[in-house]
Amino acid sequence: MNLGERPWTTVRDALASGGPVAAILPLGAVEAHGPHLPLCTDVVISDGMATRAAAMLNAQGVHAFVLPPIAYAPAGYASEFAGTISIGATTAKAVLIDIARALKDQGFACLAFANSHFDPANVTMLRAAAAEIEELGLPVAFPDFTRRALATTLTDEFQSGACHAGQFETSLVLADRADLVDRPSGAALPDNPSSLVEAFARGATTFAEAGGPDAYFGSPSRASPAEGEQSFAAMAAALSDLVLARLKGP
Ligand SMILES: [Zn+2]
Repeated sequence: MNLGERPWTTVRDALASGGPVAAILPLGAVEAHGPHLPLCTDVVISDGMATRAAAMLNAQGVHAFVLPPIAYAPAGYASEFAGTISIGATTAKAVLIDIARALKDQGFACLAFANSHFDPANVTMLRAAAAEIEELGLPVAFPDFTRRALATTLTDEFQSGACHAGQFETSLVLADRADLVDRPSGAALPDNPSSLVEAFARGATTFAEAGGPDAYFGSPSRASPAEGEQSFAAMAAALSDLVLARLKGP
């Protein structure tokens, strides 16, 4: 259920039902994703993950609302590309804390972060925000796909670290918003096997320094909507499982 598309009374009734109500917040970025994907690629992906996870939870009797997404995030690696809008970690975290406070005051039982924007500054910020929100007394479900245990549930390209606007992300956008993908341009791109994870580790601070002068890494030409559906299913299952676990206790 998409909270922003419902009247307030739907939320009131769910909160009054006696069962736990979870809120899933899609977290994206306004960030260059190659010449073939939209700037809000991560918003599309996080929203798709959140919507599928909410359906899984609702099927198991847990009320879950998908919140309107947050499109702005720290995105320093792509800031040299036109259209990328990076905000500071302090600003981004403050927004999340305020949203969490409002949800807790209303009686939501859990806040889930559906994140697909893996800029290290963003992931670090989300980990800190999750810890602070837990201290406020609201359980947070944050499946962190940059951790090995969850990364191994995703594709080979994702695990290789050469995974920005490549096969993995292009497939996900094809699955939900094929109208936003410039397929001829994506099909013509040569593979870029440079690993962002290795580049982060050696201290690169821009996509160009990391070996991605066109703001993509991986193999966009190999993308398919079927792979995107598979990745969405894995990401949504991780999110939904974590919400169920957090509703049971710490
Ligand atoms: Zn992305």
